[in-house]
Amino acid sequence: MAQENLCIDQQYLKDVLERLLNTPSPSGMTDDVVRFTCAELDKLGIHYELTRRGAIRATLPGTHYSPRRAVAAHLDTLGAMVKNLKENGRLSVVPIGHWSARFAEGAKCTIHSDDGKTFRGTILPLKASGHTYNEGIDEQPSAWDNLELRIDEVCADVDTLWNMGIRVGDFISIDPQPEFNENGFINSRHIDDKAGVASILAAAKAVKDSGQPLPLDCHLLFTISEEVGVGASHVLHGDVAEMVSVDNGTIAPLQNTCEYGATIAMQDSTGPFDRHLTKHLIDICMRKSIEFSRDVFLYYRSDSAAALEAGNDIRTALVCFALDASHGYERTHAKSLDCVARVLGEYMLSSPIFSEHENVIGEIENFPMIDNTSLEQQITKKKKL
Ligand SMILES: [Zn+2]
Repeated sequence: MAQENLCIDQQYLKDVLERLLNTPSPSGMTDDVVRFTCAELDKLGIHYELTRRGAIRATLPGTHYSPRRAVAAHLDTLGAMVKNLKENGRLSVVPIGHWSARFAEGAKCTIHSDDGKTFRGTILPLKASGHTYNEGIDEQPSAWDNLELRIDEVCADVDTLWNMGIRVGDFISIDPQPEFNENGFINSRHIDDKAGVASILAAAKAVKDSGQPLPLDCHLLFTISEEVGVGASHVLHGDVAEMVSVDNGTIAPLQNTCEYGATIAMQDSTGPFDRHLTKHLIDICMRKSIEFSRDVFLYYRSDSAAALEAGNDIRTALVCFALDASHGYERTHAKSLDCVARVLGEYMLSSPIFSEHENVIGEIENFPMIDNTSLEQQITKKKKL
C-alpha cells in the first residue's frame, strides 16, 4: 500500500524558527540554543544525548538497528568578538565565522561579559557621523579594521570599559531582527542554519505524528561549530552509513537554487556529493511531488565536508532551503522550508537505498551500482514485477 504523503505543521516550524532566531548562538556560545533544542526534543518525545562540547545526537528508532541514517544541521551562527578595549571607550571587534564587514555596519548587538552581564551596542564604521565626514564615509572601505562598537553606556575611556567588566574575547551576538511576512517571506540574520534546525524538528514531528514506522534508525544531529569549520566531524557514530546535511542554498545570479522549493546540492567546494544518496533524494522529490531544483555551489562547505574530512566512511548529501543574501540580511520563504522538511521526513521514512550487506565494507559483488534507468522506467519495471 502506498504511504500517505507527510504533512508538515507549518505553524510549528515557524514558531520554532522564531524562537531559535531569538536565542543568540554565535559559534563558541551555543549552550542556550543547545538547551532550547533539547527542550524541543523532549516535547516531541525524542531521545537524545549530548557530546562533551554540547552537540546533540538524537535518535528516531527504526525497525532495523543498522545501517543508520543521519540528518544534520548546525545551531551556531555568525557573530563577533571583542578584539580590544579602545581609549575612546569603544571596542574594536573581529568576526566569528566568515562574513563581510559591510553587513556588520549598523548592526545592533549584545556584548556578553564573563560575569553574565550583557551590554547593548551598535557596530559602526569609524567614520560614522554624516555631518562630520560627509562623503568621507563612502570613501572608507568596508573592513573589520574600520569598524568599532559603540556601547549604550556612559563610557568614554578604557578604564570605564574595564570597570564595567568588559574584556578582550567577550562574545558579541548580532541582533537577528526577524520579520515573518504574511505572504511567506521570512527576513532575518542567522536563517543560516536555524531554518535547517527548524526544518529537521518539523520533519521529525511530522514523522512521529504520522505513526509510520522508520525502516532504519535515524539520528538527528545538531552541531555547534559549523561556521568555524568543524561541523559534524565529532558527533557521528561509526555505524552511521549515510548523512544528509541541511543548510542554505544561495539565491544569486547563475545559481539554480529554487526560491520556493527544496534544492538538492550536487557539488560544493569540497567536491561532488554521494551520487547514490543524492539520487535517492531526487527520487523522493519526484515521487512525492515536492518542488525542487539541483544546484552546484562554489564557495561553500557544510557539515558534510567536515564529517568526511574527519575520516568518516559515510555517504553524504546536502538539502538546501533558499537563502537570499547569505551571511548578510538573509531572506527565505515558508514554502521552501516546507519542501525541505517534507524531503527530510520522507527520507527518514524511505526504504533503505541498499540492502544491509551492500552498505558495509566488503566484496566487490556487494558494491552497489547506480541504476541509470529513468524514474519512470523504474516505476514501470516495478509495476511489471
Ligand atoms: Zn550554514
